[in-house]
Amino acid sequence: MGKDEIVAWLQEDGEEALARLWRKADDARRANVGDAVHLRGLIEISNVCVRHCSYCGLRAANSKLHRYRMSAAEIMACVGQAVRFGCGTVVMQAGEDDGILTEWMGGLVRRIKKETDLAVTLSLGERPVEDFAAWREAGADRYLLRFETSNRLLYEKIHSPRSGGETDRLAILKALQGLGYETGSGAMIGIPGQTYDDVANDLLLFRDMDLDMIGVGPYIPHPDTPLGKAGPEFYAPDGLQAPGSEAMTYKVVALSRLLCPEANIPSTTALATIHGANGRELGLLRGANVVMPNLTPVPYRSLYEIYPNKACIRENPPQSFLCLRQRVRAIGRTVGTGKGGRTGRKRA
Ligand code: SAH
Repeated sequence: MGKDEIVAWLQEDGEEALARLWRKADDARRANVGDAVHLRGLIEISNVCVRHCSYCGLRAANSKLHRYRMSAAEIMACVGQAVRFGCGTVVMQAGEDDGILTEWMGGLVRRIKKETDLAVTLSLGERPVEDFAAWREAGADRYLLRFETSNRLLYEKIHSPRSGGETDRLAILKALQGLGYETGSGAMIGIPGQTYDDVANDLLLFRDMDLDMIGVGPYIPHPDTPLGKAGPEFYAPDGLQAPGSEAMTYKVVALSRLLCPEANIPSTTALATIHGANGRELGLLRGANVVMPNLTPVPYRSLYEIYPNKACIRENPPQSFLCLRQRVRAIGRTVGTGKGGRTGRKRA
């Protein structure tokens, strides 16, 4: 699929044409990754962040946010729940928190790998390559780091570099692949200033990078951030600006599946947030094969506020797992058993 065709799909509004896109994506999903929906238990281990990303509620300058960092014991309790509820993977995510020490994290990964059969995914932002190597050595299987947008200028507009210099998420992703991590990336859809063309480039980059996991979600404005307060002057002209809508997100999920047939693709919380009732299911019917139930203890969950009104922030784990299993079965799919790693052709 070429760029023009991708842009045309992104701009398509016809119901019949879109039904065809959903069907093609669903067929590709079934043929390449099957009917299993893999559960990744998400633990948001810290909301401390040194960065100033202009869209994210965790940004260092947001003084309204009460900060937390979970203890190893608290995290292990969540890991226990992941096992009990049948997750094959645990995903530990955080802001860019320099208080998460390399050795401490390595020890935790080692312990999880020793005491459970879970795959371990980390999503701790940009770190020195030595940290990635140490955690890989400790047994971490996967790493998630979204490049957020492939448009360099837009990227620089909404991210200030880490103190200490320029950062390059694409180079970091390459390094992670080199270390043998299953590597995931992704983008936000509908960032002010992001065009349809930019989103098509994001999709082509997913393919070119041969990602194992692709996570996309709508950009959701957060009122306590500079971008959340952005006026119309931040947006691309009418007809060019990519919308951060539910429909647009499904299109990107479906096209990701067609361009990267073997990738693991979650139906994300951001999608459930903007649709509530059945956003997750629709994602699963339009190319996605993964869901990430939240295992973060309820008192911390509302503090991991990357954007407002995150879905499921009050549900406790037994409830949300029951609800998820029912939802998966109701759409004729099965809940995955095992780790749910990348299958099929491996990167050379
Ligand atoms: N510190 C880690 C995890 C960041 S939070 C990292 O940098 O990788 C995970 C993802 O949430 C981000 O990659 C971003 O794509 C998304 N996110 C942050 N703020 C958002 C917002 N306002 N709307 C939608 N998604 C957002």
